[in-house]
Amino acid sequence: MESLRDLVDFGKWFDWSSEKPRVIAGPCAAESRTQVMETAQALSSVRYVAAFRAGIWKPRTRPGSFEGVGEEGLPWLREVKRETGLRVVVEIASPDHLQKALDYNIDMVWLGARTTSNPFSVRQIAEALKGTDIPVLVKNPVHPDLELWIGALERLYQSGIRKLAAVHRGFYTAETSTYRNLPHWEILGELKQRFEQLPVLVDPSHIAGDSQYIEELTQKAIDLDADGLMIEAHTNPSKAWSDARQQLTPAEMNRMLRQMMEKDTGTDRIIHGKNMANLREQIDHLDRRMLRILTQRMQMARDIGEIKKKNQDAVLQTDRWKEVLKSRMALGKKMGLGGRFIQRLMELIHHESMRQQTDTGDQGHQEKKGD
Ligand code: PEP
Ligand code: MN
Repeated sequence: MESLRDLVDFGKWFDWSSEKPRVIAGPCAAESRTQVMETAQALSSVRYVAAFRAGIWKPRTRPGSFEGVGEEGLPWLREVKRETGLRVVVEIASPDHLQKALDYNIDMVWLGARTTSNPFSVRQIAEALKGTDIPVLVKNPVHPDLELWIGALERLYQSGIRKLAAVHRGFYTAETSTYRNLPHWEILGELKQRFEQLPVLVDPSHIAGDSQYIEELTQKAIDLDADGLMIEAHTNPSKAWSDARQQLTPAEMNRMLRQMMEKDTGTDRIIHGKNMANLREQIDHLDRRMLRILTQRMQMARDIGEIKKKNQDAVLQTDRWKEVLKSRMALGKKMGLGGRFIQRLMELIHHESMRQQTDTGDQGHQEKKGD
């Protein structure tokens, strides 16, 4: 793929430690100068923490919730930078936010999930970014729509932004689930596959929605060789003005990262190559898709079976079968698949389709349920 080809490696965005993983940590929202300074001071001595995040404009579902301190928080972040040496990062959702962040020398900005979901907003921000060199992190859109995520990245790229990264923060799901936002590791894998140079970060906090799951998700991100992490931290999580359930204290973050990195000898990645976990994730996803397609095909075969029965046609229609086999073998060959393989595969599928058409009893039903 041609776009997003000329990106700057995450490690070269700043003159920062070469140690991985680089963690962007901080509260969901800046609440007061004291809270910001205390959290940043504590985080600055946590190994791997390279940057400080704090939302000052908060996108909230319903009015009446805390919508951020706004511009008032920007001098606090400038102070964090001066006092701790940490890079500072805020969320922007409009050209006006961007301008204010630039005025205060904020080091990086991120686009939240709701902003990425809206091409109008992304276009306006992209327009405003022209001529700047500020690094931009792009969270995934609310729903699992990879093209929309790529679209946002491309719009920023077209504005000349070359320090660009994607942040996986999980996707909305209507189903009940353990996590607040479902991770789709295979989507992340596909993104990385299509845009090799694109740095990819994971935000376990917004995936989890609950601090008890942060560790397993962080581990997963490290196993997948993510370029970085964005994790929420608060000096007093239960009293946080937003996302209270999912924030860690700086001490908890320190303990988690230290333990994790001590036991992570890197053996798996060194032995199997750095994208092993990633590729396996995608294979699992493709197999699931393949089985779903086969199930659909069998359902259609059963529908055809019903029509044949009504018309009193024979189940095996030799001419049609010959034609199917011939065309699929030709197609398979064109796609680079072995002739013998396609023939055996199609014979198996055909055999099962006929069984489904004749076998209307319990067995077919059970197998359907087993899917
Ligand atoms: C956040 O980072 O606090 C935030 C609002 O994130 P998201 O856009 O991923 O919901
Ligand atoms: Mn948050």
